[in-house]
Amino acid sequence: MNYLQYYPVDIVNGEGTRCTLFVSGCIHACKGCYNKKSWSFKAGVEFDQAMEEQILRDLKDTRINRQGLTLSGGDPMHPKNIATLLPLVQRIKRECPDKDIWLWTGYRLSELDDYQQQMLPYIDVLIDGKFEQALADPSLIWRGSSNQVVHRLKVQAASTPS
Ligand code: SF4
Repeated sequence: MNYLQYYPVDIVNGEGTRCTLFVSGCIHACKGCYNKKSWSFKAGVEFDQAMEEQILRDLKDTRINRQGLTLSGGDPMHPKNIATLLPLVQRIKRECPDKDIWLWTGYRLSELDDYQQQMLPYIDVLIDGKFEQALADPSLIWRGSSNQVVHRLKVQAASTPS
């Protein structure tokens, strides 16, 4: 997997102070996409072990307390990216269980196949759906267009009666 950018300190892509990784590769081709250079899976540089270690180090950093990690792109839910991201989110939840993980994807939650759904137990907040220019609304929080949905997966799971 390649990634385009990593922000070790970010306050705009999710709640609180976070680390944010913009992965490469997206097939949704939304009209009006804010980040067209992220469409190619070859864009950016390879996500390597050193990058993984840096993210974990940043999440554990007590000088700047991060609430968690944001995965954006590109599309972190594209099957080509999951082989790299699944072990990463599993490791984060194992080593940093108090940190949350937000993920933006162009797929709708209901469209995710079994392979993609492996990510869901590790995602706290999933913002789904393609960017629809006709439904764009700058007043929306965490969303570019009103068709997209902010799914608070962990809150839903916690409030579901057993
Ligand atoms: S899903 Fe996101 S990155 Fe992909 S084309 Fe749409 S707006 Fe761009």
